[in-house]
This record gives sequence, C-alpha cells and structure tokens, in this order.
Amino acid sequence: MINSVMGKVEIERALRLLEEIKKAAAGREIEIVAATKTVSFETIKELFDNTPIKVAGENRAQELMQKYHPSVLWDFIGRLQTNKVKYIIDKVRLIQSLDRRNLLETINKEAAKHNKVQDVLLQINTGKEEVKGGVNPEEALEAASAIQNYANVRLKGIMAVTPLDISVSERQKCFDTAYGIFAQLKQSYKGIEYLSMGMSNDYIQAIESGANMIRPGRAIFGERAY
Ligand SMILES: *Cc1c(COP(=O)(O)O)cnc(C)c1O
Repeated sequence: MINSVMGKVEIERALRLLEEIKKAAAGREIEIVAATKTVSFETIKELFDNTPIKVAGENRAQELMQKYHPSVLWDFIGRLQTNKVKYIIDKVRLIQSLDRRNLLETINKEAAKHNKVQDVLLQINTGKEEVKGGVNPEEALEAASAIQNYANVRLKGIMAVTPLDISVSERQKCFDTAYGIFAQLKQSYKGIEYLSMGMSNDYIQAIESGANMIRPGRAIFGERAY
C-alpha cells in the first residue's frame, strides 16, 4: 500500500507545480502541505530534500504513526477519531480537521498533558451534504468562539474541502464562503493566519479565491499515490 521511492520525473513534476502555484499566487505566499496518504516516508523525504515543500499532510492516525519522523513537519488533515488524538498530539504542527466539539475537548485535554498549545484549523463544510466532516458555514463563528475557551487549543484559521464533481461556479461559491468566514475570523481573533483550501483538481482556483495554504496530493505524487 505504501509506495517506494520517488523517481526523478516526479521531482520535476513537483517543481513544475511550484512554478504554476507561484504564477497563480501573484506575489502572495502560499504554503504547500503535500497530502501524503499512501506515500512512503522515503518518498516524502526525497520530495522535501529536492523542493521547497516542507509539510506533509496525513489523513490517518495509524499511517502518521508509522511514518512519523521528527525531521519533517506533519499536519493532520483527515477525519480524526477522538481515541486517536493521544497518538498524534505530540507529532503534529497543525490539526486542520477540527470539526466537532468532542474532538475539541479531547485535543485540549491531550495537548495539556504534553504542555502543548495545539494549533488547529476549523474545518468548514462548504459543500454541505456532498462532503463529510466540517461545521456548516452558519455555525462557523460560534464554533470559533467556543475554541477560545480551551487554553491548550489555538485557532489558526480554517480548512475547507470541496466536493470533487461540482462545476467551476459551484466550487467558486464554496471558496467564497470559506474566504468570507476566514476574513471575519481574522477581524475577530488574533493569530488567524491560514485559509487552507485547494487540492490537486482545484488548487489554482483556490489560490485565486484567497487560499494561502493548499493541500495537493496526486498533483505531486501522481495517480499511483492512492
Ligand atoms: C487526499 C486529500 C487531499 C489531496 O487530494 P488530491 O486530490 O490527491 O490532491 C487534500 N486534502 C485532504 C483532506 C485529503 O484527504
């Protein structure tokens, strides 16, 4: 299931991707979180050694634990079960997929055990029924406010996943909704930095819609990634 070492061609593809991102960004800083599900640590390491990409985004606690090495930065981007939080809390820079109250409580409790303030993104469900996970846009401000009551959790922004099979204009609505929430949170709270949206099929549109963090997987690692 986990692939072998990445070859030269893939590094070149990643470098071309970086060029495209730079163009779309028109001078803004865009942080790339490489979505690394099913990709081996050796491949991740080879990518990071040969490109400016420095953060790996993992979907599954089990997989993160298997691959974990302190030499690279790890974000958690998938649905997180509360009983898995204790295994990853000391390993992750950012949990991008905070989507419910009991997960918030668990992250706070486990982070406290490590004397850590865990940075998180609030996951917004901009696509409604088509995407699992995430709070509805109408509930985002209330959820953001709730996070402020937890001493060991710090809200750094929002993350959005859009449905795969929607039109460009429908996707634009999702991105605009996410951007609107991000802008509101920035006004209300200190330390709001990240608008994480855009995957392999829509990262250009996401950047043009204000994303400053994107999470491409297949666009970096190829279709064989998963
Ligand atoms: C898999 C995944 C990605 C990357 O998807 P690609 O289509 O391979 O770019 C990004 N974000 C999340 C939350 C994912 O699960």
